[in-house]
Amino acid sequence: MVRAAAAYELNIAGITPFSTVDWPDTLAATVFLQGCPWSCFYCHNPALIDPRAEGEYSWSDVVDLLCDRIGLVDGVVFSGGEPTLQRALIPAMEMVHALGFQVGLHTAGAYPGLLAQALPHVDWVGLDIKALPGDYDLVTGRQNSANAPWRSLELVLGNRLLRAGTDRPLDFEVRTTVHPGAIDDARLRELGCRLADAGVDCWAVQRFRETGARNPLPRVQAAADADAPLALDDLPVERFVSLVVR
Ligand code: SF4
Repeated sequence: MVRAAAAYELNIAGITPFSTVDWPDTLAATVFLQGCPWSCFYCHNPALIDPRAEGEYSWSDVVDLLCDRIGLVDGVVFSGGEPTLQRALIPAMEMVHALGFQVGLHTAGAYPGLLAQALPHVDWVGLDIKALPGDYDLVTGRQNSANAPWRSLELVLGNRLLRAGTDRPLDFEVRTTVHPGAIDDARLRELGCRLADAGVDCWAVQRFRETGARNPLPRVQAAADADAPLALDDLPVERFVSLVVR
């Protein structure tokens, strides 16, 4: 029998006490969890990839912070790394709700099994869909990495339908980071159409930024391509309720 994890077992790499950018239209504290199974070439937090690295914070640090922030922030975003790597995520989410805050989640969808368990405890999800399935491994640096995130997208869409009209409906956006060395205009448009076909109505296209990323970038020709303009005007805007470019 698998022992249930407890919130205090979370391996926490960092905390942002107050953020206006991690959850659209919501003031949040952000908790960065250590560990990720992938090594995306554009990762902005490569120090958070190693799951064996010891985080600098304890769960009691988060609880103390939240007790100081009652009335000042609306929610807590669990980010990473990949938060669904850690089973202690779910009891931590339950505790955040018990303290009176909403729960947000940043995930790359690498673990649909744990994501399915977590979704009932989540109010908003920012789900990375990094590429078309055939291009995934180039981005993540891991073989056969495409199935899990596309399965996770199905879970998020299904969960939203199930919870529509309830007290706590699931809100979400799909996010795609764009580097011209890994995706061209035609494939980005094709990705957008595929997301829309799947039922996604909120898509955020995020331009690659060098801050925090490795230099040189692994697997792509960074120097030559990073500044090449993308034809973002060709995105299938009409297929989405919200399509933002950041
Ligand atoms: S999934 Fe996110 S945290 Fe993990 S390597 Fe990719 S960008 Fe970095």
